[in-house]
Amino acid sequence: MSLTTREVQALDSAHYMHPFTDHQSLAGKGARVITRGKGVYVWDSEDNEIFDGMSGLWCVNVGYGRQELVEAAARQMEVLPYYNSFFQTTNLPAAQLAERIVGLAGARFSHVFFSSSGSESNDTNVRLVRHYWATLGQPERNVIISRKNAYHGSTVCGAALGGMSGMHAQGGPMVPGIEHIQQPYHFELAPDMDRDAFGIEAAGWLEQKILAVGPEKVAAFIGEPVQGAGGVIIPPKTYWPEIQRICDKYGILLICDEVICGFGRLGAWFSAEMMGAKPDLITFAKGVTSGYIPLGGVVVGKRVADVVIGQGGEFNHGYTYSGHPVACAVALANLDIIEREGLVDRVREETGPYLAEQFAALSEHPLVAGAETFGMVGGLVLMKDKASRTPFDSSLEVGMICRDHCFANGLVMRAVGDRMIIAPPLVCTKSDIDELIKRVRICLDATL
Ligand code: PLP
Repeated sequence: MSLTTREVQALDSAHYMHPFTDHQSLAGKGARVITRGKGVYVWDSEDNEIFDGMSGLWCVNVGYGRQELVEAAARQMEVLPYYNSFFQTTNLPAAQLAERIVGLAGARFSHVFFSSSGSESNDTNVRLVRHYWATLGQPERNVIISRKNAYHGSTVCGAALGGMSGMHAQGGPMVPGIEHIQQPYHFELAPDMDRDAFGIEAAGWLEQKILAVGPEKVAAFIGEPVQGAGGVIIPPKTYWPEIQRICDKYGILLICDEVICGFGRLGAWFSAEMMGAKPDLITFAKGVTSGYIPLGGVVVGKRVADVVIGQGGEFNHGYTYSGHPVACAVALANLDIIEREGLVDRVREETGPYLAEQFAALSEHPLVAGAETFGMVGGLVLMKDKASRTPFDSSLEVGMICRDHCFANGLVMRAVGDRMIIAPPLVCTKSDIDELIKRVRICLDATL
């Protein structure tokens, strides 16, 4: 780096308005400057090695420093760096990637709509499902039901679909026609209830909301198979089959937001079907390019495609970068790596179960009241006194304290309230997981 750390921090502090950051919290110390990455590690400008337990933001699935992706981008930039796919044109990587993703999603799907992010893709979903019902002559079916504490992005539609109260409190009013039900958080809402029975009860909240709104007005339900940014909330196994049954009963569309869960993170290319749901639309982003370049989209099921493409006329919606050839070329190379290295099967059969074992052992730590994983995501609940289930005073912000210890001890974990969460790269080996857990223990001890 040609500037010193302090110089970069001074530029940053003077001019860069960061996403999701209270800038006052950086006063005096400045933002940490990340300069390079390799495998499951990144380094800062002081050359500290950091285990990236969050894969950046849940996206660097194949790890850092993959030359193949660099070369795929460079090759495509030389041939055709950009062209739009609006006005009766297309390009080879976009067409190939659409076919490949449809193949991974399964026989119920036929098309892909591309964007550059998860947020844009969920905006697309809102417009797509409303256009679907309008085309079928039911424009009054325009309400979309989502969940509290869900994260579906940061655009106005994404924030409205999401259930983050802090986001709703700023920049409103949000988009009309979006309703929320409680999330299926067993640990917090019903720890003494049988987990499977709770799954059925939590799914039942969807039916109650449909009846309250009026079934003839409900267009779709949207949910993350495992809630990520909300703190890695893993639903009981009964939850998604029951959600699907309710969607079928009222004929409403199901959107599964697999921006985090897709492309191997839970041990399947897409995880909804593995969990007992049959979505009509799947949101994806992040892992499709392992974050090397922005790309997102919606995998469109035949039920929706047959109506919107078959009868809906022009869908007045698109982004300049929809089907960006360089992003699509990188995605194709990224999928090649995931396939060749068998990462999806490895997460399901080997590293995911190993991470689960190691995580479960953390329950013995005096701070840890709950520990669960699914594939390559995991969450720990920190409590002041786990025997009596006494939480920390919120003013203590135990998560933030633990997060700061992680920072100081060469580990990235994320704090969501009193939950500490991880989503390491899918290329993690068992010995990488051992190293990760070793660092987690050091940070928990430091937090005590
Ligand atoms: N949906 C889910 C489930 C997410 O986790 C995210 C981002 O974390 C988004 C949508 C938004 O994606 P992006 O930040 O690419 O807009």
